[in-house]
Amino acid sequence: MKKIIGLLLVFVGIITFTTACGKDKINYLVIVNKQNKLPSDWEEKLELVDVKTGLDETYQVEKEAAEKFNELREALLKEGVNIELDSTYRSVKRQQEIWDEFEKEKGLAYAQKYVAVPGYSEHHTGLALDVKLVKDGKVIEDNDDMIAERDTFAKVHAKLADYGFILRYLEGKDSITGYAYEPWHLRYVGSTSVAKEIMEKGLTLEEYLNIDYSPYMGYQFSGKDPWDNLLAVTIRKIEGGKIEWTYTSSFGKDISLYHELSTDFNEGKTTFTITDKKENYSYKYTGNLVLKDNKVIITYEDGSLTTISTEGNSDSNQVKVLDNKEVSLTKVIDNN
Ligand SMILES: [Zn+2]
Repeated sequence: MKKIIGLLLVFVGIITFTTACGKDKINYLVIVNKQNKLPSDWEEKLELVDVKTGLDETYQVEKEAAEKFNELREALLKEGVNIELDSTYRSVKRQQEIWDEFEKEKGLAYAQKYVAVPGYSEHHTGLALDVKLVKDGKVIEDNDDMIAERDTFAKVHAKLADYGFILRYLEGKDSITGYAYEPWHLRYVGSTSVAKEIMEKGLTLEEYLNIDYSPYMGYQFSGKDPWDNLLAVTIRKIEGGKIEWTYTSSFGKDISLYHELSTDFNEGKTTFTITDKKENYSYKYTGNLVLKDNKVIITYEDGSLTTISTEGNSDSNQVKVLDNKEVSLTKVIDNN
């Protein structure tokens, strides 16, 4: 009987706990970057609230992050620094619309270079906040102008951890984060002690969480395949012999196909299956995909197909064309 009462108490406890929490708690340390996609159940768990700024604009932010941001903003105002929200939550659906608009207006290559792939932007989490500065009644929101505001941003960054925020894209760490320095992009991590450790040690979230990253992150290889289709490959993850990458190609005039694939990587020969998300068919390619010494070489089996290799260090934009196809390599680090 005691056992049953004990069990009942546990059940009542669970029910009370679940009711008190409402929605499941989100993981404030979630990692979303060019290699890691937003978890599929994220959007249903996310609780957003409206935040009204001093400029009379309204932005959607995750509930807890919104409270802490308001506290941070107030504390900075007391020091004479005025930050305002500039870009916050963006749904995957909205990102897809932005992608489609750019692709329609400017073409696939442009979209690939300047627009984040839907599902892979930290702004989907509701925890990433871009801020702008207001100084002497003037709004400073241009990226270069903000980077020039070193002293002001130093004051902002010094206060972040006290409110559970970190600076997400650190200077000189773009090979880890996939993004160039962004003094304006703040990220809520749900805990002041975690934020303090990250900020004091000068870590990226990837380093703090010990997440595998690679020098190929943020790279996008583009060129034309032998059928004259625009081809782009974005390396997302290299881990224990497994490569996850996104292959994007445009077949025909206005039709573009967006593929996601993962492949087992063995020395030399690799078989990979391409599954089209929109049309729902799968397509099998056999070929080589070699990642070695800062080179990415993709060769399809008949030998006539595109082979792209990069040379030099990870900052190099040089491309070596191993067949007679015109190819170019773009390092994509600033689209978010
Ligand atoms: Zn941002």
